[in-house]
Amino acid sequence: MTALFKKGEGSVKKMGDMFRSGIKALTFFYAAIMCVFLCILIFGVHGVMKWAITSEQERELIETAESIMGAQKNARLGATFDENNLYKSASDRLFFYVFDNNGTLIRFSRGSYRIEPFVLEVIEDGLVPKNEIKVFGKFDETRRRTELMLTSVESENGAIVVYVGKDVSAMYSGMAKATYAFILLGVISLIFSTLIGFFLSRRALKPARLAYEKQRQFAADASHELRTPLAVVLSTADLLLNDPTIKSDFLRQTILDMKDEVKKMSNLVADLLLVARSDNNALKTLAVRFDIAALLRQAVRTMTPIAEKKNIVIKERGDFTPTEILGDEQKIRQLITILVDNAIKYTKEGGSVTIGFVPAKQGKVSFFIEDTGIGISKEDLPKIFDRFYRVDKARSRQMGGNGLGLAIADEIVRMHKGEIEVISEEGKGTRFTVTLRLKQKYIGRG
Ligand code: ADP
Repeated sequence: MTALFKKGEGSVKKMGDMFRSGIKALTFFYAAIMCVFLCILIFGVHGVMKWAITSEQERELIETAESIMGAQKNARLGATFDENNLYKSASDRLFFYVFDNNGTLIRFSRGSYRIEPFVLEVIEDGLVPKNEIKVFGKFDETRRRTELMLTSVESENGAIVVYVGKDVSAMYSGMAKATYAFILLGVISLIFSTLIGFFLSRRALKPARLAYEKQRQFAADASHELRTPLAVVLSTADLLLNDPTIKSDFLRQTILDMKDEVKKMSNLVADLLLVARSDNNALKTLAVRFDIAALLRQAVRTMTPIAEKKNIVIKERGDFTPTEILGDEQKIRQLITILVDNAIKYTKEGGSVTIGFVPAKQGKVSFFIEDTGIGISKEDLPKIFDRFYRVDKARSRQMGGNGLGLAIADEIVRMHKGEIEVISEEGKGTRFTVTLRLKQKYIGRG
């Protein structure tokens, strides 16, 4: 099965990016928690406020309804009906209507002209519950909302029904305003807490970032310091090889082996230095105009002798039209070498490696390195760009690999704001495609 893996610009998380996204994630998490907390608080406060205000009103309304009913009964028994005593806690917003069982209105204290039609409409529709409170709301023509709290009480024999209500519009609108004010305060607190969350997570991650940077700096310094002694050992080995007094074949072979190992070590140190510098943003780039097609052709020529050792042919595919791009020629050469070198390394004897070129289109140019090698499994594909990741450690080491090649290739592509894509099928082969911009405003880390 063919598997595809694409690495676009900025898709790779380097340590610096990881700290940044860590801060982002922590801030977001903190803000989300604050958001949930504030929502619960606002809903809670709204609920408590509503309960506190309405429960008092409810008690008043029920008591009034009962006292009117009591007064009405007394009136029927012949006692004097004292309107003033009908309900003690009367206010101008309270109103009542008493109906007999024929539906005739026998006594009332009217609500204001603005709300009365609405009150009678609700009563007529039989919506007012008995011995319970219900709030009815409606918008009038001027978009003003009227809120009425209504209850009703029925005498035991059902002869009379008392409807008592109160205009609670002002109370409800006050409550709505208080809730809006709370929401506004909630939003302001959320913005503040997000900012605080951002600063706190930045502070919390600072020691970890500093420790990481120190360690990076150490890797960069150590590899830099190792370069000189290694170069000295290498030139000493050359010196020894050129010494005519050393005639023993065994000694000469030992020196050759030593030279080989020191070369490998120098390569590893150079690679380590490159990745450490790229982490520290200290990777120097030199942007020049150069012909990428010519560079690829040159790679075919220089890599052919290495391929021939394994009886592998390097083919060219496509139209290698001269195409100038702006970039770091040295680094792009290194990128091509890494990819071709891998293609040769992971292809069995007698196989082939193809270097292809796709002429410029829409400001971009692509090239690919294809092999008929061992391929890469779908599971390994996303990991091959990780530092020191090798599918088969023994094989890679035997071929002189250190697991840094593709990490460096990826870094070079990122530096040029390009893309690298790999498509592979186990046992059949692999194709790496690199797409670069002809010009980019800025060459540096992506
Ligand atoms: P190495 O030095 O081990 O080659 P790289 O970073 O260049 O390290 O590659 C990482 C791993 O990806 C290799 O160990 C190998 O398993 C796999 N790989 C890279 N290129 C190819 C290829 N052309 N074909 C098959 N496997 C490959």
